Amino acid sequence: MPTSPHRPIIVWFRRNLRLADNPPLYQAIATGQPIIPIFLWTPEADAPWQPGAASRWWLHHALNSLATNLKDQLGLDLVLQTGNHPAELLAELAKTTGATAVYTDERWEPFAIEQAESVATVLTQQSVDFQQFNTSLLNHPTALKNKQGQPFKVFTPFWKTAVPLIEHLLEKCLPIPPKPENQHCVTFPPSVLLDALNLLPTVPWDAGFYADWNPTLEGAKAAVSAFLKERVETYFEDRNRPDLVGTSRLSPYLHFGQIGARQVWWATQVAANAKGKGGTHFLSELGWREFAHHLLVHFPTTPTQPLRADFEAFPWSNNAEHLQAWQQGETGYPIVDAGMKELWHTGWMHNRSRMIVGSFLVKHLLLPWQAGAKWFWETLVDADLAQNTMGWQWIGGCGADAAPYFRIFNPILQGLKFDAQGAYVKKWNPALINIPAENIHSPWEQKPALLRMDGVILGENYPAPIVDHAEGRKKALEAFATLKKNTDSEEA
Ligand SMILES: Cc1cc2nc3c(=O)[nH]c(=O)nc-3n(C[C@H](O)[C@H](O)[C@H](O)COP(=O)(O)OP(=O)(O)OC[C@H]3O[C@@H](n4cnc5c(N)ncnc54)[C@H](O)[C@@H]3O)c2cc1C
Repeated sequence: MPTSPHRPIIVWFRRNLRLADNPPLYQAIATGQPIIPIFLWTPEADAPWQPGAASRWWLHHALNSLATNLKDQLGLDLVLQTGNHPAELLAELAKTTGATAVYTDERWEPFAIEQAESVATVLTQQSVDFQQFNTSLLNHPTALKNKQGQPFKVFTPFWKTAVPLIEHLLEKCLPIPPKPENQHCVTFPPSVLLDALNLLPTVPWDAGFYADWNPTLEGAKAAVSAFLKERVETYFEDRNRPDLVGTSRLSPYLHFGQIGARQVWWATQVAANAKGKGGTHFLSELGWREFAHHLLVHFPTTPTQPLRADFEAFPWSNNAEHLQAWQQGETGYPIVDAGMKELWHTGWMHNRSRMIVGSFLVKHLLLPWQAGAKWFWETLVDADLAQNTMGWQWIGGCGADAAPYFRIFNPILQGLKFDAQGAYVKKWNPALINIPAENIHSPWEQKPALLRMDGVILGENYPAPIVDHAEGRKKALEAFATLKKNTDSEEA
């Protein structure tokens, strides 16, 4: 289609809320045409996967930061609009602005793929060019196939195949584009105020979030450099310790695209401290993120259905009291409760804790993994459909390359191993502050008189365990035994 130097291009921001290494923004500015940057808030179109409460909090601040940076660095005003469906809004925007094209970042959730298809249809009818660019992943999630030409279901061969492609294909990250010219030719469409999107909570449960996070573009950059300076060298040893800040804490920035995986990859490649085991292992975690998206694209029903079909018959419980105790961090297992409280107060949970609380939910309580995934969806600032789905199916033993269901985490031993002094548990369960390290992960094993001397009365200021570990384990194995043997063969 012929372009006109005076007609604008719409840059539709979705999960690429940044300026640098942002192909749709960069390529749009490179045309020399005026630019209209927009963000569309269409929660009904995303249902049931519209961002949860914690993600909306993050999104509010991420949009604010994007708008400020667009204005200060590129002289552009971010347009915010709300409506039922992106296709309706974009069709109208293209008509009223005379845009020749809409450029956007490619998303991989099934609902987002459908939305993009509808957008493509309506824009084509209006002779408006529609282009999607991969801004969030190292490789396109459909680029890789196993030796049989099928999607991978096992991580190690997936990552072995992916790495050479990344090394080979990855050009240097794109810089922040130059200020666009011709902006005076554009009549800007109307925009609502950010506050009108109502992304922030009306009840102030988010105080702890402000203490823990800087959800801006500057915060993203600072998080990458602090990790590469201070923690990547010890990442391999410390990554499983919820009592330490040993990981990057980049997940929400990556989810919202305030930093891109390519940028993190290259920053790690060139960081002096990242040459050893720490750097290599950290990069493989980005690989798990890639794998999660590969799985979601190829198995789009997995957010609600197990990848292993035999698990559809699993005899789950529906005990609402147990679910509530788990959600509120009132299970009586200190490491589980610490994780759930960390989640509630900060919108994030350490990966080791995610595995421990997840295993407790689906094994000790026999509650469906989907209930856990839903709670995480609402409460995580990094809630991501691909990663959350893979994480929960891994825990539930029903996903790709998953932990076998019969491998049941013992929350006491996990605590003793990964939070040996109980610092994490005490931080989030202050009632347990005086319990000695040897009992901190199983306070009920201490004599009641001694417990009382340490200031704890089970059932009063700290819950008694809602299930017995050995009993819970036995029931989980019995439930698992009712499933027919899995006959899926592993890929080569
Ligand atoms: C039940 C469950 C649910 C999860 N839900 C989410 C989710 O909704 N969103 C999310 O981003 N991560 C999720 N994870 C993965 C992981 O827990 C987080 O990515 C990690 O804890 C984020 O902390 P970090 O940025 O410090 O990670 P780091 O250890 O510093 O890793 C760097 C990056 O690699 C990616 N990554 C690390 N571990 C994993 C993993 N196991 N699977 C996929 N990607 C990974 C993340 O993008 C992370 O930011 C889940 C894991 C489990 C077990």
